[in-house]
Amino acid sequence: MFADLHLHTNFSDGTYSPEELVEQARAQGLAAIGLTDHDTVEGCARADRASQSAGIEFIPGTELTAEQDGNELHILGYLIDTQNLKLLNEIARFQSVRQNRIREMVARLQALSVPLQAETVFSLANCRAPGRPHVARALVQAGHCATLDEAFERFLKKNRPAWVPKFKMSATNAIELIHQAGGIAVLAHPGLNRSDEVIPSMVEAGLDGIECFHTKHSASHSRHYLEIAARFNLVVTGGSDCHGLSKGKPLIGTVRLPYHYLETVKERAAERKTAAAAS
Ligand code: AMP
Ligand code: ZN
Ligand code: FE
Ligand code: FE
Repeated sequence: MFADLHLHTNFSDGTYSPEELVEQARAQGLAAIGLTDHDTVEGCARADRASQSAGIEFIPGTELTAEQDGNELHILGYLIDTQNLKLLNEIARFQSVRQNRIREMVARLQALSVPLQAETVFSLANCRAPGRPHVARALVQAGHCATLDEAFERFLKKNRPAWVPKFKMSATNAIELIHQAGGIAVLAHPGLNRSDEVIPSMVEAGLDGIECFHTKHSASHSRHYLEIAARFNLVVTGGSDCHGLSKGKPLIGTVRLPYHYLETVKERAAERKTAAAAS
């Protein structure tokens, strides 16, 4: 039995609807999936229903963008209460930050004589958590760039002319936000962010787990982070980070997390809930 615990839908910058994602998971023979859209939990209810019909275990989640010592980090929250008011309020704030950032990026593009409208990006994104991939798709659709990669290389990558920095909460706040919503906090794809030096302070702040298996992790990355997980008593997670068809081939099912790791994730979440009830 295998799980894929890092997946995106069209409620953020993936291309699959929750139902399409679940159908892909079924085709891949996955026993469990975790939905981790950027800065939203909106897709969870539909993905949960579709998973139930398909006989797949569903783990609600989100992927929050945070910052520690100037480094961007992604923090996954699993088994959160998707109705938690504080979580929903904070998420609404991050979403409006995202929307304003799109307007600013479009203004920069216009100043570069690329006549793109923010409304074009919003209607293409059709979600509350739009991001750079949506701007890239709009640039390709309007014929300003041949590929998504070209859009990032010319305009959207960090320090390129249409790039706008994004407000980020601290890693500590992200961990607290996830905990108060009843979930566990997991550092996403540490091999991508080269974030080893921030791990001890995040553990201090209550980090529960680390994503050891990820599409962009080499076998030696995975071994390295499994060692770190053991050293800091962190649970181990993994997933493909599938964005549907937006980054070429759909990745769902290409990272297959052995189910026993998910058991440990659920045990840790239950411990957190017991501790929170006692305090
Ligand atoms: P944002 O949240 O708006 O900063 O956008 C982040 C998303 O953009 C993530 O899904 C990244 O995988 C994607 N992304 C970042 N850099 C690139 C790139 N060079 N090419 C394609 N996608 C990228
Ligand atoms: Zn994404
Ligand atoms: Fe990420
Ligand atoms: Fe992701």
